[in-house]
Amino acid sequence: MSNFLFTNVRVFDGSGEDPFPGEVLVQGDRIKRVACAPEAIERGDASLVDGHGATLMPGMVEAHAHLTWPSSVERVINAMKLPIEEHVLVTAQNARITLDYGFTSAYSAGALGERIEPALRDMIDAGFMPGPRLRASALEKGAEGVMGVPEGHDPTHDRDIDGLRAYVFDKKKEGCDTIKFLLSSDEGFAPGGSQVLMYSEEEVQAIGEAAREADIWLACHAQAAEAVKRAVRAGFRAIFHCVHADEEALDLMEANRDHLFMVPAPGLLYARIHEAQDFGIGRKEAEKLGAISGLEAQQRIVPEMRRRGIRVLPGGDYGFPYNPVGRNARDLQLFVDLFGFTPAEALVAATRQGGELMGLPVGEIREGMLADILLVDGDPLADITILQEKEKILAVMKGGEFHRSPGCGYLVS
Ligand SMILES: [Zn+2]
Repeated sequence: MSNFLFTNVRVFDGSGEDPFPGEVLVQGDRIKRVACAPEAIERGDASLVDGHGATLMPGMVEAHAHLTWPSSVERVINAMKLPIEEHVLVTAQNARITLDYGFTSAYSAGALGERIEPALRDMIDAGFMPGPRLRASALEKGAEGVMGVPEGHDPTHDRDIDGLRAYVFDKKKEGCDTIKFLLSSDEGFAPGGSQVLMYSEEEVQAIGEAAREADIWLACHAQAAEAVKRAVRAGFRAIFHCVHADEEALDLMEANRDHLFMVPAPGLLYARIHEAQDFGIGRKEAEKLGAISGLEAQQRIVPEMRRRGIRVLPGGDYGFPYNPVGRNARDLQLFVDLFGFTPAEALVAATRQGGELMGLPVGEIREGMLADILLVDGDPLADITILQEKEKILAVMKGGEFHRSPGCGYLVS
């Protein structure tokens, strides 16, 4: 494994501090040293990467990833379910695309298969195929006999406490890092679904207890206020959407803000409103799916969460034909344009706080952290949209190895 010294770069370190001109030394899979100019780092045997003033920043974290949702910027597939052989290969392709576009980590929000993501994660970690670090999940589950469980997402657990406990332990045994439950349904699944609760307080508490015993994380789709509250009370780590969160839900989240992450996933809502006409989703259909009212609600709720210090992370349900994998950095722009984040705050959410969600030493340019690093042509603090352009992401390094090397104008061996 080579060592690399990045020189002549502007370092955005993920802490939220202003970028500074400096140098960064990578040794093995870790960041060994960070220096602020005029201080310089001894090159030693390291290969030199001259950034020519480019921005060096931590790799980004996608906090609501669906690598098995088939569509990507390279290939739009107007279907969700494919024959299993194609589905597995498309998933591997999506993992590579996610990494190509600067996302070195991804926290799963559910997979269209019980074992695809644990298997994919293991293949990536072993170095057999390119992809982000992955917190793997199985398919999201809803409860039997409740209106609004989408087709194919049917429960594979018995509708009692023992059944739910067994399901949690099964997922741990199958290698999942996180389990996703539908704690409420969604307007996209059934009219009025966003207010339909799937599991009782007692059931959600039992899920939480079993997850602590099994040492596995919990994530949930939660639209209804009571679904959000049940998730917080049961110790869920990642809570998605939260469209109907009320004052009491916000208070609960604030009181537990050190243990939870909220991911609104505005990308899908935005795409359904503005970019899905070619797929038969006009304004009327977008509202039927809850996109317009949902995004309006999030524009009220998310700034309030931010004010209360609740960690709100970008990650937007990419993988639909009109919201393809590879467009993930668009969520950072939506955080700025719709939720009032500064570009620096959106970047911190996508890097340092993303690393906290992953539970890994990633997301910061700091000594001792894993060397997940992007070299970006331009200043994302001045224009957050450049992160959506693959050509602007000059290099992607994961664990000290280049997934995408900088061009020969940058690499001085
Ligand atoms: Zn999702």
